[in-house]
Amino acid sequence: MLGMSIREVSQALRDGRVSATELCRKCINQIQRTLYLNAFITITEETAMEQAQRTDNRLRTGKPLGPLTTCASSMLKGYVPPFNATVVQKLLDQGAVLVGKTNLDEFAMGAGSTDGVFGPVRNPWSYTSLYREQSTEDPDSDWAITGGSSGGSAAAVASLSSFLALGSDTGGSTRNPGSLCGVVALKPTYSLLSRHGLIPLVNSMDVPGIMTRSVHDAATVLRILQGRDERDSTTVQAPSTPPSLPEHFDIRDICVGIPKEYHAPGLSKDTLAQWSRVADMFEQAGARVQEVSLPHTQHSIVCYHVLCCCEVASNMACFDGLEYGHCSKVDSSTDAMYATTRHEGFNSVVRRRILSGNYFLLKSNYKRYFVKAQQMRRLIAEDFKNVFRSGIDVLLTPTTLSDAARYSDFIQEDNQTRSAQEDVFTQPVNMAGLPAVTVPTALSHRGLPIGLQLIGQTLQDWKLLTVAQWMEQKVNFPIIHLHGESNERELNRSVRERTHTIGS
Ligand code: GLN
Repeated sequence: MLGMSIREVSQALRDGRVSATELCRKCINQIQRTLYLNAFITITEETAMEQAQRTDNRLRTGKPLGPLTTCASSMLKGYVPPFNATVVQKLLDQGAVLVGKTNLDEFAMGAGSTDGVFGPVRNPWSYTSLYREQSTEDPDSDWAITGGSSGGSAAAVASLSSFLALGSDTGGSTRNPGSLCGVVALKPTYSLLSRHGLIPLVNSMDVPGIMTRSVHDAATVLRILQGRDERDSTTVQAPSTPPSLPEHFDIRDICVGIPKEYHAPGLSKDTLAQWSRVADMFEQAGARVQEVSLPHTQHSIVCYHVLCCCEVASNMACFDGLEYGHCSKVDSSTDAMYATTRHEGFNSVVRRRILSGNYFLLKSNYKRYFVKAQQMRRLIAEDFKNVFRSGIDVLLTPTTLSDAARYSDFIQEDNQTRSAQEDVFTQPVNMAGLPAVTVPTALSHRGLPIGLQLIGQTLQDWKLLTVAQWMEQKVNFPIIHLHGESNERELNRSVRERTHTIGS
């Protein structure tokens, strides 16, 4: 039952084959069984059971079912938000049940889910027999990262603990872990979904991202979440869409672009092979596949870095110990209180971005860094426009450079260098505000997922998902089988001893 799609499970609920409370219990049990993944930082068991009860009442009375913070930072430890984000509320209004809050990199800064205060998230696919057979080490020392920053959300969906998870996508934070954990992750067009209730990273790029196990499910959730919200003035009216994606669709009408600059240094053999295989699939089915150029791609990482740090410096200013969150005991002066609060509350990744942002924004540097980066951002967006103007419908690219790194290898480098390498295919999309989706396509020789990204035109999210569903049906991605229960018990014991004291 847990392996079902949202569509299947909604049908089972409507038919009375399972109740919402039974289903919720199963999800909570699955979370408990896989605690070693460290995907969740709060399990909201009681409220989940209450919500499930309400959904059951709703089902019983014939009311139709519709087809959920701490930011992993000490700064917001124990903070209970006073309201729900619009996207969460919209799900609850449809009868969805929120089983918990998932782990991430502190304040969504990172590409590994290794930098949050609750410790790293583990990739469920490194606990399948295929991965374990190739490892000479024990499961508690050799495991792969989930990618990030929304690694907990991706791991929760991949390990069958939930049917859907959300994350914020500013530079790739849902697509990157989606690709590395073998789930579908959609970053909708900027402004199609409300950001009300999201803690901002880069306001001009942030979008709530949707993670599910199928493209059809992502489309179902998109229809629920999209549209104008009076609490977010950047939101737009959603274009009208049919109730669900077409089951059959003629791919011969579609022109697929392959950006030549995306043959980036560090692209793994396995990922390149998948990219070529799927491009061939499109071609053989009659789609037009054509090489295109996005000449400013090479500048996108630097450009993103400058713009991100500038907005971070501004956004993080509200965490000063006065209004909410952590407050230092040092009270010799207001300045000393601010400084120690921020030093104690933020990790070094966040602190470094604040410092860099303030440096870029100095009166003497503003034109040289911030203004230049804004101009470059415009050119990057123009590249995409030119390609789409030439008749391309979607772009097919890798999502990440390779499959998931081993945790012990990943932490050798600092966060900024890693993000710079990892986000090369995802960040340009955020700078241009376009919709993009990653779809799992195959397993690497290590038994870890490889996803491919499709990029669409502004507000053509539905067309993008229609093509993505076609691709999903052709690639035949395998179902996950986590290894045995006795191993789980052993792993949970050792991981709980080390990490779960932090969050308690
Ligand atoms: N890895 C990028 C960063 O560190 C993207 C983060 C995100 O999308 N939230 O900023």
